[in-house]
Amino acid sequence: MAVWAAAALMFGVSTSASCRRETRTPRVYVIGLDGATWDIIDPLIAQGKLPVFKALKEEGAWARLRTFDPTLSAVVWTSIATGKTMIKHGIVDWTFVNKHNLQVPYSSSEKRVPSIWEMMDEHGLRSVVLNWFVTYPPDAVSGVMVSDSFSAAALKTLSGKGDPEALIDTVYPPEEFPKLYVILSRMNAEGALKYPRLVREMEIPDYIAEFKTRYPEDVKRVPILSVWPSFLAYDRIQDTLVDHYLEENDYDLFLAYYRFPDVFFHFATLFLEKEYHDRIDAFVGAPVEPSPEVLDEFNRKMAEVAWPILREKEALLSKVVERARLEKAYLLVVSDHGFLMSSKGYTHYGLPDGTPPPDGILALIGPDVKPGLRIEASVYDIAPTILYLKGLPVGADMDGKPLLEPLTVRRPVRTALYTRMRHQPAKENPELDKKKLEELRSLGYIK
Ligand SMILES: [Zn+2]
Repeated sequence: MAVWAAAALMFGVSTSASCRRETRTPRVYVIGLDGATWDIIDPLIAQGKLPVFKALKEEGAWARLRTFDPTLSAVVWTSIATGKTMIKHGIVDWTFVNKHNLQVPYSSSEKRVPSIWEMMDEHGLRSVVLNWFVTYPPDAVSGVMVSDSFSAAALKTLSGKGDPEALIDTVYPPEEFPKLYVILSRMNAEGALKYPRLVREMEIPDYIAEFKTRYPEDVKRVPILSVWPSFLAYDRIQDTLVDHYLEENDYDLFLAYYRFPDVFFHFATLFLEKEYHDRIDAFVGAPVEPSPEVLDEFNRKMAEVAWPILREKEALLSKVVERARLEKAYLLVVSDHGFLMSSKGYTHYGLPDGTPPPDGILALIGPDVKPGLRIEASVYDIAPTILYLKGLPVGADMDGKPLLEPLTVRRPVRTALYTRMRHQPAKENPELDKKKLEELRSLGYIK
């Protein structure tokens, strides 16, 4: 334990004590579901299969969340957290070539503008930030940041490769790390992170076995399948982190990001009924785009395939919805983009010329939110809306605006300029970088 304590000193501890705490406004929860789309959720709601998503839409305001090219998750989730375009925030791709001429993933060190948790910190408010994109190394803000490098690093160490002490800097403040590592070690010892058990407990099909049955000659064709067990484990670890920090009472903003269902959608067409799959596959590379009728049918069929994955996330959502209702807090459920079937396949980037990027989702519930109202919103509106809901000034140079339309009680909008206060020095972590690049390759995002 002495090592943890020394690390805590080395990294410095939170300075929130010196900040004045603003009058308490309702807490704000944000759940990020990468790639979630109403195109797939709505047909399932209509069949009564996703009661929690249905309740979100009926009880709160919702939008087809407008997004912007390139719909690369690292770029868009940073826009969501900053309220700014990629030109301003500086995360313009998955990776860049560093000074050693190596391809490395973007890290929080390259961010040029403050994220919502830094703005909270500036006003003496605490945030819990779990697994948000481009958060390694984590910012030294008051509250807790479990960076997007934590799960992969922890999983690797738990499998006996690597030293836990090397992972302390994936979490802020560093004294959180040993607590989390104890929880994960216990899960690991019980076999809870093993693939067959994950499949069973998440109540989702064993897609790897199913793929081998359907395409026995072709197992190597789908690189995602080799990293799928890790993605399931990350998702389960994220559930555990969410459960753990929901129990802590001292936070004003709670942000948790899930890479589901994006990862699944990238290979989900393989699980469409064989004959239909071949029919829809004929559109890939074809000169004519599928008609709206074909797309409707496709979305209905894809909804059936995706149901287990979305149902799995409803367990988590219902927990957070319950909590938000009880506390009279706000909850935003957000995605960075949807998916679209086209001549480029079922994807969200590299679409045919002139095709706008597919919308993400937004659902907002809270004490004074008009029920069932459809609104217009974009990914840039999320950060200013969070600031507004917390009674704070909105960033004057943000590209979005606070979503006032769904609120019955409105205050004047104040503005201020926020600056990135605690710029993290870049850290070289070739092992973690290698793992991230391997996953990006398996998803077809980089070559
Ligand atoms: Zn994404």
